[in-house]
Amino acid sequence: MLNDNDFITNCNVPGPTKEAIRAIILYKADIKNTDTIVDIGCGTGGLTCEFAQRAKKVIAIDHNPQATNLTSQNLKKFKIKGNIDLKTDDALNALKKIEKIDIGFIGGSGKELNEILNILNEKLNPNGKIIITAILLDTKIEAINKLKKLGYKPQIMEANISNGRVLERGVMMISENPIAIITAKKKGE
Ligand code: SAH
Repeated sequence: MLNDNDFITNCNVPGPTKEAIRAIILYKADIKNTDTIVDIGCGTGGLTCEFAQRAKKVIAIDHNPQATNLTSQNLKKFKIKGNIDLKTDDALNALKKIEKIDIGFIGGSGKELNEILNILNEKLNPNGKIIITAILLDTKIEAINKLKKLGYKPQIMEANISNGRVLERGVMMISENPIAIITAKKKGE
């Protein structure tokens, strides 16, 4: 696992997804070294860097050129090599050109979540999985409803993480934003 503070950041690009959340995502993703993963909305590259160390191929997409640039910088900083395809493009556009995938991760979708899930579902291998992180209540509900419509049985985990800051007179707990990790396997569970 990479440390949050080691990532190069840019105030115009969100991320990296916090360490504890990346750990949950990696556990849920259960990546095999034969897997092709698409990271939709790669941001700072928090997940791209983790996926690239474990998967056969990672396709990282972001419509913000500063995000793909930052992801590229972080991959270099952590000396992560491998089969990584960085695409500066809208998620829908980029997904249309992609062949089959094993894991579809959505870290950002703007207003396109519904359509992104339609395409991901088409491109996903029969035993593939979809993982979505959502901060907005609206995104959580939209993701769950759409996955159900597509025939999946989504699992929803909401993480409320707090980290201790050691002060002279004791330890103060500082909370992170609650975030949902929504997981769905193509075959259902
Ligand atoms: N998981 C990342 C943070 C993701 S932030 C990390 O750990 O670093 C979400 C990102 O999604 C943003 O950079 C935003 O530009 C991108 N995004 C949102 N909607 C998008 C879309 N429709 N197509 C491509 N990228 C999108």
